[in-house]
Amino acid sequence: MSFRLTYATMYNPPEAMHERFEAALARVEAALGARHPLFVAGADRDAAQHAERHAPFDTALQLGEFALADRADVDAAMAAAHAAYPAWRAAPIAERARLLRRVGELLEERVYEIAAAMVLEVGKNRMEALGETQETVDFFHHYADDFESHAGYAHVLPDDPIEGFASHNASVMRPYGAWVVIAPFNFPLALAGGPVAAALVTGNTVVLKGASDTPWSGRLLADCIRDAGLPPGVFNYLSGSGREIGEALVQHPLTAGITFTGSVAVGRQLMQQMAGGAYPRPCIAEMGGKNPCIVTEHADLDRAAAGIVRSAYGMGGQKCSALSRLYVHERVADALIGRLQAQIAAIRIGDPRRREHWLGPVVNAAAYDNYQRHLDALRSGGASLLAGGARIGAGSEGRAVLARGYYVEPVLAEAPLAHPLWQHEMFLPILMLHRYRDREEAMRLANNTSMGLTAGFFGGAEEVAWFHDRIEAGVTYANRPQGSTTGAWPGYQPFGGWKGSGSTGKAIASFYYLAQYLREQSRTVV
Ligand code: GLU
Repeated sequence: MSFRLTYATMYNPPEAMHERFEAALARVEAALGARHPLFVAGADRDAAQHAERHAPFDTALQLGEFALADRADVDAAMAAAHAAYPAWRAAPIAERARLLRRVGELLEERVYEIAAAMVLEVGKNRMEALGETQETVDFFHHYADDFESHAGYAHVLPDDPIEGFASHNASVMRPYGAWVVIAPFNFPLALAGGPVAAALVTGNTVVLKGASDTPWSGRLLADCIRDAGLPPGVFNYLSGSGREIGEALVQHPLTAGITFTGSVAVGRQLMQQMAGGAYPRPCIAEMGGKNPCIVTEHADLDRAAAGIVRSAYGMGGQKCSALSRLYVHERVADALIGRLQAQIAAIRIGDPRRREHWLGPVVNAAAYDNYQRHLDALRSGGASLLAGGARIGAGSEGRAVLARGYYVEPVLAEAPLAHPLWQHEMFLPILMLHRYRDREEAMRLANNTSMGLTAGFFGGAEEVAWFHDRIEAGVTYANRPQGSTTGAWPGYQPFGGWKGSGSTGKAIASFYYLAQYLREQSRTVV
């Protein structure tokens, strides 16, 4: 029996899906402690140094030893990608697409093992991990299908006869060269695999750098790419610290372009660096979010509460799509708050290996400490906590059973509009709320941010057009109980930010995404 993960299965998974996941988890746990090398020029490559990593839900559980790449490894990976580029670029589109589909198939065959490793490494729950793995599968197929069905975006253009000579014209899209992908910890597979698939199918070669918190997920992707039989050097994988090798990758003379997913601060810096050098090079930066949701007095409040809770607290708010600012019409605010409090109280927090736990820990000690810092700032800035507010894991005096993990409670805080955290991406399960009087005020507040990734709306059907027209965000959801700001899926919701959330205004898995990995060559022949 095989299952295709969809949103329906994510919310109501068949029993056999749990059984398969648990069997895979047991296999993966039995093999913990291994050493995980880099992958360069078609072969494993040992790094000079390794880092021992532990599970965020149990800091005594050792996951393995992961290679810490250094500058020599960066040089080797870039040289391999550069050397492999001419032949890969010349390969027929159908051949590249075939190999990428094969990667997708291998990911799908290993979906349970990969998801199990992700649960252990990041602490997300099993359905989030399975969903992300399936999303990655879909990226490989989506981009292969897209590029192939558009014949590489080549166009024959009209002849323009001048002085009796017919000149034949065409537009051809060509790749750039060795492309660097810098992946984030929160979607260590999908936001690595998506850009990697896009860069590869368009004929670029790739060096992927996994996030420092999630070297394992990236390595599992590398295994699938290796086993799919891509020629050596076409894809290379580095794990290690951003500070150590991120800079070296960006400044490398062989780096032809970059896709980065992460914070606004780092994204901006990368864009500046990519603008320098011998000549400016493309930088696709997918950055943060400070995503709002507006609830009007015409909203279905049960539906709104479900969508809000999933978006604000799913994966502990550690998504750039997470909901963090809630604007509720004053007439329905108390009723909505009551529903939210009930749902928050019902959230089961704990070891993400267990099916009953919807919310695992946050990713690391820094996030855990930030939670306390932000809560202190909320309290001292006049906010009232309507729900949550305890650190219940490592280092706290919390419940014994959770004592070795970075567990925190989801928070709902009604906060004065002047509070600085309305403008600051926290990447934690902290939702701020404001009661508004009229919806123009709500829209003004919702747009009062330098970011513009996702936005949610719950209200009457006749209000939806107003929301779409006025909201400044790249990904919008109206009246969606499965998630008011999160849960985009390739082929269904193109995902990209406006304003400070994205550098190009072209969304992931959209009709325009692959073109960003290509440069146009106009060809006129007489
Ligand atoms: N694609 C994910 C979603 O729609 C979010 C990606 C991210 O948060 O980085 O929820």
